[in-house]
Amino acid sequence: MGRYKPGKPRRPRRTASLVEQDLRALVGEEITGGCDHCHAVQRMREDIEHPGIFVLGVHHEDGCPWYARRSKRKPHTPR
Ligand SMILES: [Zn+2]
Repeated sequence: MGRYKPGKPRRPRRTASLVEQDLRALVGEEITGGCDHCHAVQRMREDIEHPGIFVLGVHHEDGCPWYARRSKRKPHTPR
């Protein structure tokens, strides 16, 4: 009779999902697009305090009409 230890499932504490791995691969990359009104680029970054949370920022060109309109408006105006 061999020794058989009923398996403790060996689970790493935290496994990066495939989506997370894909997103992480994009960190630091510039992705063209994100705005129909200028040659904006998008840049992915991972939240330092919350690993696994990714933020895709859109960086508009100077003089982008859409961005100018948006920044004039107050975001989240309370009703
Ligand atoms: Zn733009």
